[in-house]
Amino acid sequence: MEVGSTGILSHYDVGVQYTSMSIELSRREAILGLTSLAFAPLGMARAPKANPVGWAVLGLGSYATNQIMPAFEHCSQSKLVALISGHPDKLVRFGDRYGIPATHRYTYDSMDAIRSNPDIDVVYVITPPATHPAFAIRAAGLGKHVCSEKPMAPTVDECRKMIRACSLAGTLLQIGYRCHYEAHNLRAIKACRSGELGKITSMRSDHGFNIGRGQWRTERALAGGGSMMDIGIYSLNALRYLSGEEPVEVVATITNPSDDPRFVDCEDTVDFKLTFPSGLVGHGTSGYSWIPGKNQFEVVGSKGTMVANPATAYGGDTLTIDGRVVAVEANNQWAAQMDHFSECVRSGKKPATPGEEGLTDIRIVQAIYESAKTGEPVRLG
Ligand code: NAD
Repeated sequence: MEVGSTGILSHYDVGVQYTSMSIELSRREAILGLTSLAFAPLGMARAPKANPVGWAVLGLGSYATNQIMPAFEHCSQSKLVALISGHPDKLVRFGDRYGIPATHRYTYDSMDAIRSNPDIDVVYVITPPATHPAFAIRAAGLGKHVCSEKPMAPTVDECRKMIRACSLAGTLLQIGYRCHYEAHNLRAIKACRSGELGKITSMRSDHGFNIGRGQWRTERALAGGGSMMDIGIYSLNALRYLSGEEPVEVVATITNPSDDPRFVDCEDTVDFKLTFPSGLVGHGTSGYSWIPGKNQFEVVGSKGTMVANPATAYGGDTLTIDGRVVAVEANNQWAAQMDHFSECVRSGKKPATPGEEGLTDIRIVQAIYESAKTGEPVRLG
């Protein structure tokens, strides 16, 4: 254990590790700020700062109430101070549970009043993807910094509008790519970029599960697509952050079972190939009908093969190189994500996963859809 940059015992600073390994940082890593992430080990509450950044959670569904809200306890820079929901009963239930006063509970109708609440610095939008743009733009217009869940929005145009709204309002925008703040994934990036695996010759990532019927995730109007938008984005984003490159060409196919009512409006299995400028090829898949599910990536290099399985789970991520487990101290990825953004709010620094990161994924997802439709490779500018 070491004393990290914030002086709190038992957390470590990835930046220190990167620097000590003498890794040459790419421009993208520098932009993503991967050198400055610091986080708390799993299960260990961090000493709260005297003046934490105030967060309002908007949308009190499964992810907000089971992962995000409990993680505030592990934050040192971030505090849950307000709730915004379309369900007044949830405002009472979760407001009481988290000690949020009635003055800090808002419905979608009354949320414009957050403008005059100085306790709220950030609005965290955790609703279905098609609703992210309107809520994000509204929150920015109310003078608040915005964290939006992934996928950022159904279209590139909407992503641009979210970025522009925050820029015009002078507020910051973070996309909730928790894996960029998770210890195993950061260690995997280091293995790829440090030469530890030698020359990378191939990589693949697979994410899928068996989805239930009647969920918004299978409604294109709310989800923006099917498995690719929701779970496939983990495969896509991992191929990008592991390689440190942006693809120049995409080839994809989509397979939908013809007799399954879950897939009348959205896609099931997506198989895509990304060609990167170095010539490296990344292979990704996503699926909504997979039994069992998959959550993994594999990177083959001239000096070793790295496997993460599970790779991007809520807990229990496991990393091996040539079959040997890589020792990684697990951290609370949600607390790390939120504290990082709070630090950015305090300093004005661009977050590690800004709107542009979400926009890039959506641009590639659209190219994947286009390729699957035409049967042709799609070049990316
Ligand atoms: P959910 O269905 O459990 O919750 C969605 C919430 O949004 C509910 O409170 C619901 O009342 C509200 N809602 C539904 N339709 C709405 C509408 N039209 N307008 C406004 N509010 C509406 O879904 P979830 O699993 O919590 O997912 C929410 C968001 O979080 C999605 O964007 C999803 O992709 C993302 N998510 C991210 C992760 C991750 O690991 N980063 C994990 C799960 C979900």
